[in-house]
Amino acid sequence: MKKTLGLCCLLFPVLTLGCSTTSTSSAEKNVEMVDHFADNAFGNPVAVVQHPAGQYHDGITYVSYQGPLEDPYVAAYNHETKEWLGPFKAGVSEMGKDPSRPKIDNHGKPTMMIDDEGYIHIFYGGHGGTPEHGDNPLGNHHYGANKHAVSKKPLDISEWEDLDTIPPFGTYNQVLKMDNGDMYLFYRHGAHRSDWVYQVSTDNGRSFTPPVSFLKHKRRDDVEGVDSWYPWVGHGQGNDIIVSFDYHLCWDRDARERGHTANREDLHYMVFDTDTKEWRNVQGERLPMPLTREVADQKTKVVDSGDLWTFNGAAALDPDGNPHILMNAGKDVGLVTGGPKQPIHYRWDGSKWVGGVTIGPLKSRADLMVKSATDVSVFMTYQDADGKAVIARTDSDDAGNTFGKGEVLFRHGKGSFAISALIDDAHPDARIIASPRTSDSKLKNVYLVGDNGPVQRKK
Ligand code: ZN
Repeated sequence: MKKTLGLCCLLFPVLTLGCSTTSTSSAEKNVEMVDHFADNAFGNPVAVVQHPAGQYHDGITYVSYQGPLEDPYVAAYNHETKEWLGPFKAGVSEMGKDPSRPKIDNHGKPTMMIDDEGYIHIFYGGHGGTPEHGDNPLGNHHYGANKHAVSKKPLDISEWEDLDTIPPFGTYNQVLKMDNGDMYLFYRHGAHRSDWVYQVSTDNGRSFTPPVSFLKHKRRDDVEGVDSWYPWVGHGQGNDIIVSFDYHLCWDRDARERGHTANREDLHYMVFDTDTKEWRNVQGERLPMPLTREVADQKTKVVDSGDLWTFNGAAALDPDGNPHILMNAGKDVGLVTGGPKQPIHYRWDGSKWVGGVTIGPLKSRADLMVKSATDVSVFMTYQDADGKAVIARTDSDDAGNTFGKGEVLFRHGKGSFAISALIDDAHPDARIIASPRTSDSKLKNVYLVGDNGPVQRKK
């Protein structure tokens, strides 16, 4: 820093006003900082469901997002030196390149995990695959190809290579690393008429078991449509994995003459014991796998959403092992996407599901952190009364029965944000990745936001 500024004074001896060779702090004041760390986000570059999109590890926060041509990008922030590295392109998506398909698909945004040897993995680029990829034995096709890339060196985001470990049909990747280093990759094995599956790696992601179905897609015999699902996976107690999910009836044609819509309903919950590979409901009853709608309706339902359309949200356990779940819900307004939704909090009190408390206004998206049996924090994005995009945190000290007014962490220009889930093992300064939500193909800024607002970068 001093060296550069000395050079500056030397080269421009007349313009020495902003230069100082004696005081680093006054020199640093003259470095122009910006709120964003990258300016090449494309489409909706992050979402809560593809998670985690970033991970904190040994003083550094690693983040990923969808960039130009729907390719995955990775950047890193050093919390000690306050310096950014990247972004670097980490792979090439099969989507986003075909001029005859100008609509941004947005399903292939990256999911990230660092293995026990420090290699950084991303899973990206998939939305069901195409018939050219061959027969999908567990569902239908749509677009793209699900891919797995890994950093060439540990904790080095500058060079990447693809690994051949997963089928091309997956989408909505979600990955968890267990305490013993095993990696569990969850995804939907195709377009929206497909099973949800998991694959396990016990060798730091160099190979994975074949896919195992846990949520079954199935043609209904009472109405013209297919059972389908949208889950969210998270860490449970010990080697358990918890899954909250909602149901999608994929109509051939619904009452409004619509085919596939974003109509989802109800909220469910179950637990996966990765030691025994057995699944159970919240009461501890063993579940037959892969789970069907008939069994789910009897054994795993948290709440019936009635006429509301849902969008699955995050789940987390309190220290007693009781789950807290966010369900996003809103009205059907005649559009295939449904109307705006808002997060609603539910929790298991040890003997029954309680809650139903609405958090945040319509069009909110959120993730939650449960610190104790009573302390619950929700990080969310919404549009405020002035139409500005906001990222805020709201806390409950009574297990979610009531939430505080909330604290705005970042307020941006007109519009709304797409946000990631909470970063894995997040540093308090760097909890969520955010970017303005738009439908055009202009490149946009990406932000890393924590308790002190956006993590800044030298311009
Ligand atoms: Zn559908």
